[in-house]
Amino acid sequence: MSNTKYVFVTGGVTSSLGKGIVSASLAKLLQERGYSVTIQKLDPYINVDPGTLNPYEHGECYVTHDGAETDLDLGHYERFLNHETSQANNVTTGRIYQSVIEKERKGDYLGKTVQIIPHITDEIKRRIKLLGSKGKFDIVITEIGGTVGDIESLPYIESVRQLKWELGTDALVIHLTLVPYLAASGELKTKPTQHSVKMLLENGIQPDILVLRTEHTLTGDIRSKVARFCNVDLTSVIESIDVSTIYEVPLLMQKEGLDTTVLNKLKLKNDNTPKLIKWKEFVDRLKNPEKTIEIGLVGKYVELPDAYKSIVESFIHAGAVNNVKVKINWIHSEKITESNLKETFATVKGILVAPGFGHRGIEGKILAVKYARENNVPFLGICLGMQIAVIEFARNVLNLKDAHSIEMNRNTPHPVIDLMEEQKKISDLGGTMRLGKYACKLKKDSKVYEAYQKENIEERHRHRYEFNNEYLEDFEKAGMIATGMNSESNLVEIMEIPNNDWFVGVQFHPEYRSTVLAPHPIFIDFIKVAKK
Ligand code: GLN
Repeated sequence: MSNTKYVFVTGGVTSSLGKGIVSASLAKLLQERGYSVTIQKLDPYINVDPGTLNPYEHGECYVTHDGAETDLDLGHYERFLNHETSQANNVTTGRIYQSVIEKERKGDYLGKTVQIIPHITDEIKRRIKLLGSKGKFDIVITEIGGTVGDIESLPYIESVRQLKWELGTDALVIHLTLVPYLAASGELKTKPTQHSVKMLLENGIQPDILVLRTEHTLTGDIRSKVARFCNVDLTSVIESIDVSTIYEVPLLMQKEGLDTTVLNKLKLKNDNTPKLIKWKEFVDRLKNPEKTIEIGLVGKYVELPDAYKSIVESFIHAGAVNNVKVKINWIHSEKITESNLKETFATVKGILVAPGFGHRGIEGKILAVKYARENNVPFLGICLGMQIAVIEFARNVLNLKDAHSIEMNRNTPHPVIDLMEEQKKISDLGGTMRLGKYACKLKKDSKVYEAYQKENIEERHRHRYEFNNEYLEDFEKAGMIATGMNSESNLVEIMEIPNNDWFVGVQFHPEYRSTVLAPHPIFIDFIKVAKK
């Protein structure tokens, strides 16, 4: 194939219309036809990356294999495409300005006045084209965060306008809007879509395809009305109706012909219609489980499930493999007490203690681990969850009174979780954790080896603290074993209690690597045991 093609996805009327899922679904359909596709997210906020954002602000921070802290939409891209994304796949306004200002300080602009147009827009365009320029991808899909009309989105919209002009038929714009349903009159309304497209036109962009989010089927009349008012042909009006699972959206988009329309417009071959056999099998299992099992997810952001997006999706994937529906019982760690412990966990078949930072809710998490350990409930601790398992074991089995992590108590007499050596000189918070992919060697006689069926694995990390190896011998003598280590740094990556049916704490984040076509072995086995 000759030139890389660029597809831009913008949104209008309101946020949360599912631009990320529509982008990922389109990418999936194009990938199934044999094209190499990647997706990029441009975020219009001034944070350099979402790593320093509180999950209440923006949901989970997703970590790529090369250690970028990114928007949670990148998780969807990987789960749909089964393809790793990287640093280049998520760019924020903060990052753009940072590069431009660094260049200005170096004198690279040769005395010119540095302005939004052309300097900021050039940097945005450079970042978009970077993914295509390596020749690795036939198609680059760029999702513009925010909503058309936001002040913050303007430089991005302007960059898309310029690129569309420069690239001609090698670029196209898909605009997502909402068609609201007025219950009182029983009508679907197209006016917000018309206005939103008008706003794009004011910015010099004629969208090529419109994807209309709706609660009810769009009639032929509605479709032709939108086509007529918004200067697009009828095949370019795509319905995106609410569905019970996001994993149905690619099938829906295929039915609507989104991929065919995109390929026609980009003048690419559109034979070999995707069969999506494995995908359909997965959706089928998902919708027809043998039974439902309940897993308790203990965390401090449980009012906001987006904070644990990848964990939730990993359970969906692993549930489908095991033919069960995993119902998550969201348990707020601050609400767990000694006296409500039994009742809190009465119906759950497994307990997951979530990743996290800071001291809030810690004692509740320790109680949750204690309950799992003493009652032999299948347990998975992720990152902070693994550290909590270590603290609980230290306090209640090794009798190390007030054992803690240095993160929560600087003066603990027993720092069983300590600050990593290389972290000691770091003061900046942004992008300075132990991030991304590291190797781990598994002990053969372990639950994790059983899950992975191999000795050498690689998983993604996001932490500053680690198991303190000075205590390792005591832990192992008492029955908590390090079953995964990084051979280079000697960091403990996995702790298990072999006497329990399934008690596993991992310092890394398996949830970032679970995809529809490759569900994560740790989640699969956790659910398998919980199902019994
Ligand atoms: N706060 C812990 C650390 O920094 C755990 C981080 C996490 O759960 N992602 O080590």
